[in-house]
Amino acid sequence: MTAQHPAIGLRVTATWRDGASGEPPSAGVLLPPAEPGGPLRLHLDDDTVITLAPAEWTITPVPATWPRCPIGRPLYRPGQIPHQLATEQGLRYRRHHLAAGQPPVATFKDTRGRRGNTTFPLYAVADAEPFAPRADHQITRVVQARTCSGCGARREHPYPLGLDGRSRYCTDCAAPAADAWWQAHRAADRALAAEWAHGVLGDPAALLVISTPTWPALLHATTPHGLTVASLALGESTTRQAPWQVDGQRLQVVDPVHAVPSVRALAGRRLIVWDTPLARVNRLMSDAGAADVRLSVAERDKFGPHLERWRAEPPPRHGTTYRRVWRWAAQQPPHDPFEQLAAMRDGLSEMAAHHAASDHEGAAR
Ligand SMILES: [Zn+2]
Repeated sequence: MTAQHPAIGLRVTATWRDGASGEPPSAGVLLPPAEPGGPLRLHLDDDTVITLAPAEWTITPVPATWPRCPIGRPLYRPGQIPHQLATEQGLRYRRHHLAAGQPPVATFKDTRGRRGNTTFPLYAVADAEPFAPRADHQITRVVQARTCSGCGARREHPYPLGLDGRSRYCTDCAAPAADAWWQAHRAADRALAAEWAHGVLGDPAALLVISTPTWPALLHATTPHGLTVASLALGESTTRQAPWQVDGQRLQVVDPVHAVPSVRALAGRRLIVWDTPLARVNRLMSDAGAADVRLSVAERDKFGPHLERWRAEPPPRHGTTYRRVWRWAAQQPPHDPFEQLAAMRDGLSEMAAHHAASDHEGAAR
C-alpha cells in the first residue's frame, strides 16, 4: 500500500501542470482514490468530482498549512467543514449513509459540546450512498409535518406537535389551537363529571361517606340527598363522647365490636368518598373479629377527582403553547368532616345540574 497523499481531506487548488493552456486552477477538497492505486479525486466546489492524474496536476493546499488531529488527518472546527465533507450524522441529514468500508478523510473537533470537546470522523460526501427514495406515504408524512394544520403554512423543518399529539402548528396557530384543544377536553371532562354526579344522585344504593383519621374514628354515611343512614364514632373508651353532633345529638363512642352490624349494612352499598379509602374502618372491623366486613370504594366513585376535572383551570402557557402535561388545580376537601360532606352534596348538585341542562338542550333540538 502506498502512502496517502498528504493533502487528502484538505481544501486544495489543482493546476494543470502544463500551465500554458491558461486554464484557471480548480478549487475543491482532495479525496482519496476511488480504488486502491487509482487516481486522486477532487470534489469541486461546484459539486462535480474529477479525477487527477498526479503526473499532470500540481496540487496545493489552501491555506498552505492546516491543523491536524493526533492521527494525522486534517482537523476542522465548528464552522470550518467544507460542504464536500460531513460527519456520519451530517450524511444522514443529507439522506446518505456510509458506503461499505468508506474511510474517514478528516476529523471534526466539536468545541461547542457541553461535555468538552468531542471529535468525529469526517467522510467524503461524494462517496456516501443515498438512502432509498422515500415511498409515497413517507413523502406525505414529511410534507404533513412541515405544514401547519391551522393555516397551511409550509416550512423546511417540522412544526412542533400540538396538544393532541398529532397536529402541528406554526407559531401563530399554536396558541389558539391549544386553547381549542383545552376547551374541547374540558367540555368532555365536565360532561363526564356531570354524568357521574347525575348517576350518583339517582342511584338508590349510593351513600356519601365521611371518615376521620382521628380517634375516635368517625364513620358517617348519608344518602346523596342528606338522609343519615349510619353515624358511628368507633373507639375503645366508650364512656367518652365524640366531638361531633349529628341531628342535634352528640355522638356516643361505640366499641367497634358493637358496630359490626351497622358497618355490615353499609358494605353492600355504593360508597362515595372524597378521596380517602376506608381502610381504617376495615381494620377496626377486622380487629373486632369481623374481617369479612369490608367497605370498598370504586376508583370512579371518588368525588375529589371528579370535582377537580369539573373545576379545572387552563394549564399554564409554555412559550406560545400549553404544556402537554399539567396539574389539575387541586381541590382540597374541607378539614371538618361534616363540612366535607356538605361540600360533596353541593358539588354533586352543581355537576348534576349541568347534566340536566344538557338533557334539556338535547330535547329542544
Ligand atoms: Zn398556522
